[in-house]
Amino acid sequence: MESLKLKTKLLYLLVSVALGLLGVGFVGYFNLLTMKRNVDTLYFGSMVPMTELTSINTAYHHELESNVYRWREKILRDEDFTRDITLGLTNIDQLWASYRSHHTRPEEVPYITYADGRIDVMKRYFEEIRSLATQHTKASSISILTLSDNITSIHNTIAQLISYEIAVAQYERSVTLNHHQNSLMQLAVMLGVILVGVMTFAWRIFTQIERQQQQLLDSSQALQHLNIKLEQASYTDTLTGIFNRRYFNLVYEREFKRASRALKPITFIMIDIDYFKPYNDTYGHLQGDIALQNVARVLKTSLARPGDFAFRLGGEEFGIILTDTDAASARQMVERLRFNVESLNMEHKGNKNTGIVTISLGAICVTPTMSMNNETLLHTADTNLYVAKERGRNQVVFTTTL
Ligand code: GH3
Ligand code: MG
Ligand code: MG
Repeated sequence: MESLKLKTKLLYLLVSVALGLLGVGFVGYFNLLTMKRNVDTLYFGSMVPMTELTSINTAYHHELESNVYRWREKILRDEDFTRDITLGLTNIDQLWASYRSHHTRPEEVPYITYADGRIDVMKRYFEEIRSLATQHTKASSISILTLSDNITSIHNTIAQLISYEIAVAQYERSVTLNHHQNSLMQLAVMLGVILVGVMTFAWRIFTQIERQQQQLLDSSQALQHLNIKLEQASYTDTLTGIFNRRYFNLVYEREFKRASRALKPITFIMIDIDYFKPYNDTYGHLQGDIALQNVARVLKTSLARPGDFAFRLGGEEFGIILTDTDAASARQMVERLRFNVESLNMEHKGNKNTGIVTISLGAICVTPTMSMNNETLLHTADTNLYVAKERGRNQVVFTTTL
């Protein structure tokens, strides 16, 4: 469930990052388009018209006015003058037509109409002068003053248009710069929002992962504890609290192998409480259980080394394994076990010999060989116990050969 949430969150994160980037892309694309349009407007709406207007003024001065002066000075012949004026007028017509073809702002219209009229007047004025040349009339009849006034007037008209175009160009430049600034701001804000969103999402996902890891760690630790408890429970005899028969089988096989590999002595002691059936009969089963617990406790506490183990093998029978203990020490230990139980001094009227609870012990201590069968050891201990019982109980039979 938690990991499902995590997956959904990751999906959200990816989708929002993708959407955010898509948004940034769109905004960037549209801003670039607008800027391209701005640049086009600036170039074709102001720069190109400005050069055309400048060319028109140049044409008035160099192709018309100066030719009139050269004709008056007779530097130009009538035919050449006629041709040059025609060329000049055509050039101006073409430049003006081209200028008119560009986008016209509504504010410009009255002024352009005015300029259009002025250009027309100038055209008729120069056509009149040309017709004089065609008729070979004397050029001196032309008024220099009128020519100069007309040229100044059209020059000013065109110059007015040029300064208007410059003003518009400046305005458009500022619009473009503003737009550029705004685009940068928009993109920065969008990227900022995406970044903050991603960081927040990522942080939440990260903390969730951390929490899950901790939960996993906790539950695996709890499981470990439970396993240890379970293992202990399966190796423990519920009545006496010492190891049970199942664990005995395990330990006995393991220690027997270890001893035969290391060529170290191993001791197995088989223990049986004397006249226990009469004990139960006399004192009751519950008291019998208590006696079993007492004997078990004494047996266990009599062992001091970590390589010594006490087991309840079943009923009122116990088993003891001593590892890496020489025969003399083992013999002492077996005797001590008997003595310690006797020392409990638990009343047992059914025990005709002593009147207290006692045990009989059959023990065997050998250094096993690889070929030795571990069953033989158990069997010998059992036989020794039988002999101890036969000899009158509350005693030890200890051997060192099979
Ligand atoms: P011996 O000296 O020959 O060993 O005589 P015994 O009476 O001890 O021999 P036997 O094996 O015939 O009797 C064992 C008795 O142990 C039988 C049963 O009543 C008793 N016993 C076995 N397990 C338990 C137990 O868990 N609790 C109690 N209270 N008694 C048990
Ligand atoms: Mg018995
Ligand atoms: Mg018995």
